[in-house]
Amino acid sequence: MKRRSFLAAAAATVPLWRVRLGALARGAPGGVARSAAGAPALVAQPFDLSRVRLRPGPFLDAMDVNRRFLMGLDPARLLHMFRVTAGLPSTAEPLGGWEAPENELRGHYTGHYLSACALMSTSLGDPEVKARGDLMVAELARCQHALGDNGYLSAFPEEFFDRLRAGRGVWAPFYTLHKIMAGLLDMHTLAGNAQALDVLKGMARWTGGWVQPLGDDAMARVLEREFGGMNEVLYNLAAVTGTDWYRDVAHRFDHERIFGPLAVGRDELKGLHVNTTIPKIIGAARRYELTGEPRYRDVAEYFWREVSTRRAYCTGGTSNGESWNTEPGVLAAELSSETQECCTSYNMLKLTRHVFGWTADAAAADYYERLLWNGVLGTQHPADGDKLYYVPLASGYWKLFGTPLHDFWCCTGTGSESASKFGDSIYFHDDDGVWVNQFIASEVDWAEKGVRLVQDTRFPVAAGTSLVVHAGRPTHFALRVRVPAWTHGGSAALNGRTLDGFAAPGGYFVVDRAWKDGDRLEVALPMALHIHAMPDDPTSQAVTYGPLVLVGKLGTDGITPENLRAEPTKPRMVPEFTYQPPPAPALRVRSDYPATWIQRVSGVDQPLEFRTTGQERDVTLVPFHTLFDERYAVYWKVTRQA
Ligand SMILES: [Zn+2]
Repeated sequence: MKRRSFLAAAAATVPLWRVRLGALARGAPGGVARSAAGAPALVAQPFDLSRVRLRPGPFLDAMDVNRRFLMGLDPARLLHMFRVTAGLPSTAEPLGGWEAPENELRGHYTGHYLSACALMSTSLGDPEVKARGDLMVAELARCQHALGDNGYLSAFPEEFFDRLRAGRGVWAPFYTLHKIMAGLLDMHTLAGNAQALDVLKGMARWTGGWVQPLGDDAMARVLEREFGGMNEVLYNLAAVTGTDWYRDVAHRFDHERIFGPLAVGRDELKGLHVNTTIPKIIGAARRYELTGEPRYRDVAEYFWREVSTRRAYCTGGTSNGESWNTEPGVLAAELSSETQECCTSYNMLKLTRHVFGWTADAAAADYYERLLWNGVLGTQHPADGDKLYYVPLASGYWKLFGTPLHDFWCCTGTGSESASKFGDSIYFHDDDGVWVNQFIASEVDWAEKGVRLVQDTRFPVAAGTSLVVHAGRPTHFALRVRVPAWTHGGSAALNGRTLDGFAAPGGYFVVDRAWKDGDRLEVALPMALHIHAMPDDPTSQAVTYGPLVLVGKLGTDGITPENLRAEPTKPRMVPEFTYQPPPAPALRVRSDYPATWIQRVSGVDQPLEFRTTGQERDVTLVPFHTLFDERYAVYWKVTRQA
């Protein structure tokens, strides 16, 4: 199902700190996950989100914008269709977009909203946001009670599921249910809300009652309709409660038609809807973590490598028109105004977190960085916090944001979550040390060791980071700092003294010692310009500086308030959008080294700005995440001059 053709679109998923690996699992305040027999140990454990605090910088700025966006939404409006469906009085004005009373996905954003409140309140230690989430849970519990005693809870009637069972037209009811269930789980595991777990158990009971009578053929037909991460949330519930029955229900949502080829290393992703697929794979990752069945790790790891390399653009993003339309490595003709749906980036980051936990592979952390900066950070409008749906990668387009209260797309939901959890995956640990994966101003409380690690950085304006150890007494551990694949000639100094043996790019620089309070490790990671050519067209090139994709500023001609904010479907009807965008600006260069035709024009410690040299019309370039409300070019047509 292409959502575009259905109405406009749909998809997303859930966060997942809450539940770790079986044996090592520890929910956030609230739940303790018990281990399933056979659960493998993680190589690298993520820190609970509550242990990481951001410090001033672009990510904290984005969280602040999103906090205002979330708290600006009216709970009564978010609850309206739940109350109407449950026969409870509601005088609230209905929301628009995908939350409108006639939209078949209504209620999905309320699920994302629960997750976002849980994540944001945990990230910031913010009681006001937690209280908002608690209020939503209490009101949803009233709706569930009013709907009867079978556990059902939704903003649309059960009849939608009758249509699903009968193979009659309906958008994606389990997709929507998954968002609500995941939101409740987050409110329980992250925000410590006990009622949320009760409501969720009711929904899981209803789900089990619905799927268990279905034969395999009937269930296989159901699975052809987008269902979000139903398997994942049920595996997570099994881990949190230690109840195997939820695991049995989760198995019904394991999509064997998708898993089969991946398990044997075959890329048969062509033709699949991207954001329908990734959440299923995250479910496979959770199955492996709970049961230790290696096949499901094979599924997830092969999928991750394929999508993060041969199916990724320079930004780390994937998808065009929401699908994979080609064989792997065939991307040059895929650039469009509908590339890289944002919720696919959200879900790939989630999956990457699992892969890193299994492997401690620096390549996974490199990929996470590329997608985080180029596919997530700049997808929220800094003025009002509204979110982006697609990230156009064809030249001449601009970031088309939604209209507040009139979109509530899948990506509005995932974007609300993404910008609530930027403390995620910066740090991992094992018993012996810490991995510093992302260069984001922050601090992490490693309470088990009595160590607080402060990361002091102005990255990427400054090319490197500083790590300061705070410890009550000297403490032995390994500090492992990622040395990104994009750097060259890095170095490190401990308390001002340069250290030997800096690591090669694509690995970790490890300092294993007894750390004393106040010890400071300074790491320089010089950035350079790099070319990212399309795998199937070496003349189609993007330019990066460190991990950052640089985009050419193409001006604001023809951009009006009307076409700056709109439904992605609407532009097709607006003359301004139906124009064929100009071909990628042509650049003529004398060398393969971009430093010979692009120069940094901003001063040291100033926001990054570059300019081409020697072209017919020279262009200014800036990091993609900093550009808004202007046309841009990501890929250029580059020809080599004699
Ligand atoms: Zn989306």
